[in-house]
Amino acid sequence: MDIKSLDILIVGAGPIGLACAIAAKKAGLHYVVIEKGALVNSLYHYPVNMNFFSTSEKLEIDEIPFISKEPKPSKQESLEYYRRVATSKELHIRLYETVQGVEKKVNRFEVVTDKAIYSSTNIIVATGFYDIPVQLNVPGEDLPKVTHYYSDPHAYAFQKTIVVGASNSAVDAALEIYRKGGDVTMIVRDKAIGERVKYWVRPDIINRIEEGSITAYFNAEITEITDTTVSFSQDGIIKTIPNDYVVALTGYKPDFTFLESLGINLIGEQKIPAYNEKTMETNVNGIYLAGVICGGLETHKWFIENSRVHAKMIVDAVVSKK
Ligand SMILES: Cc1cc2nc3c(=O)[nH]c(=O)nc-3n(C[C@H](O)[C@H](O)[C@H](O)COP(=O)(O)OP(=O)(O)OC[C@H]3O[C@@H](n4cnc5c(N)ncnc54)[C@H](O)[C@@H]3O)c2cc1C
Repeated sequence: MDIKSLDILIVGAGPIGLACAIAAKKAGLHYVVIEKGALVNSLYHYPVNMNFFSTSEKLEIDEIPFISKEPKPSKQESLEYYRRVATSKELHIRLYETVQGVEKKVNRFEVVTDKAIYSSTNIIVATGFYDIPVQLNVPGEDLPKVTHYYSDPHAYAFQKTIVVGASNSAVDAALEIYRKGGDVTMIVRDKAIGERVKYWVRPDIINRIEEGSITAYFNAEITEITDTTVSFSQDGIIKTIPNDYVVALTGYKPDFTFLESLGINLIGEQKIPAYNEKTMETNVNGIYLAGVICGGLETHKWFIENSRVHAKMIVDAVVSKK
């Protein structure tokens, strides 16, 4: 592979970046995938015991069968699957290498990473949204007891643990920590558990709150975190409770600075990147978007399920330009 004469450089080896690599390879294009972490790095950082809400066939790429023990696969099964896809398809992937900048040259892009300089006619940005947590912006958020990434319940057993948020991730964490012996309190900005919470999990969390196994404060927002307490306001009244750990699952957002540095326009309050819905090409000729990055702050709009089709759309568009 000559890194100075690529047809496509794909940023991000998530499921959708891999789908793009397979489509590019099938079309006989010169391509490479640059990934700043491990293969499918976002999935690798998901909670240890999580199960996908999608069934395994909905997570397949290039129609390669994804066999799982239960209909909805586990994190470990997904890592196994995408690893096998990458090895069996012999994809060109460079791991632990970060794309730092892109410069437009005549008819080509120069892509600078922390390890090399590439030259490519087209770029696919498949960088997802899992790297930048939405901050609480309160004093004490930087204490080591606060995390925006939940992994394993064991650390929270017998600990006064606050889970912030009421989305799927927050509800899953609250239930799991409670069932492993944690003393769980949920601080929720809205007036109830989120409507988008999986229909088979929602009754479980509502019942645990109603029976008092998990304490929940609704219409509540954290105002300060200290080593031993958390303060929050609820209906204008500040309360302070003892606390050991804070698991703040308040969502994630795409790297807008990176998108803007590429010249991609971000539209409206939701900062939706500008792209053509038929080709996935952005307002910058030759730069395409794939996967969940397309939704801007609407991070619930795109999944693996509905964005894996982007790969073929983009490669068809690139081939038709040749
Ligand atoms: C807990 C959880 C459960 C989910 N469950 C489901 C589900 O059941 N079904 C479903 O369809 N979807 C699900 N999703 C959504 C979907 O799985 C993810 O958002 C998915 O990872 C999106 O794939 P992607 O390839 O677009 O982005 P990602 O998988 O996020 O991949 C982006 C990659 O780009 C890399 N990257 C970023 N910036 C750079 C850079 N500058 N240089 C190099 N590499 C870079 C990242 O390290 C990352 O590996 C879930 C999400 C979460 C958080």
